[in-house]
Amino acid sequence: MIVGQQKKAEEIIKMLGEGWESLLIVGCGTCVTVSLAGGEREVEALANLLQLYYGKKGKKVTISTDTITRQCDFEFIDDIGEKIEDHDIILSLACGVGVQHIVERHPQKIVFPGLNTSFYGATTAVGEWVERCIGCGECILDRFGGVCPVARCSKSLLNGPCGGSQDGKCEVDDDIDCGWELIFNRMKDLDILDKLLVFEDPKDWQPYRDGGPRKLVNKEYYDE
Ligand code: SF4
Ligand code: SF4
Repeated sequence: MIVGQQKKAEEIIKMLGEGWESLLIVGCGTCVTVSLAGGEREVEALANLLQLYYGKKGKKVTISTDTITRQCDFEFIDDIGEKIEDHDIILSLACGVGVQHIVERHPQKIVFPGLNTSFYGATTAVGEWVERCIGCGECILDRFGGVCPVARCSKSLLNGPCGGSQDGKCEVDDDIDCGWELIFNRMKDLDILDKLLVFEDPKDWQPYRDGGPRKLVNKEYYDE
């Protein structure tokens, strides 16, 4: 899932600025709900906080809220289309994709990002997420025992390790497991260490960001 973190209230208030009377805070019910950053609970909490702030300042504003299933689908944005149009400004608590999808649907509206989109991650403990994939466009997990050298080695080495790990921890940060030690141990357990004797050619980054913004068309949707 996409993991995000809510921006600090001061930053949000500064970003919203002056000159508006009505604000709609829009949450997203999918990834960022799971990462406790932009779901219904966070939307309502932020709305209350902003109400308090502007109330204390004596600024008369209307703050409304809504949390839709996904902000990355027009289908759900359209469900609140009128509500979006009825407000001066929009604060999206989705990832950057959701923010831009609202902008695309409502080009006349100013839409602010309430989150910092962090990474593609997995839940490892309550309230803890870790990066596992960077969406490189050509998955090579099959050659590394299912542990990603691109996302989990701090240097994205395909022919690791770098030699700097200490006690299984990465030399870049000893809070991080050395991705290459994970790969080695996993392949040893599976008795497929010989696979690591093959030198990996440099990764083809063309499916990543070489050609600019990527597009995926699944022909199954169109073929009979
Ligand atoms: S190889 Fe690429 S697609 Fe596969 S997990 Fe790693 S970053 Fe993600
Ligand atoms: S210590 Fe391990 S994870 Fe860190 S950069 Fe070196 S090989 Fe990669």
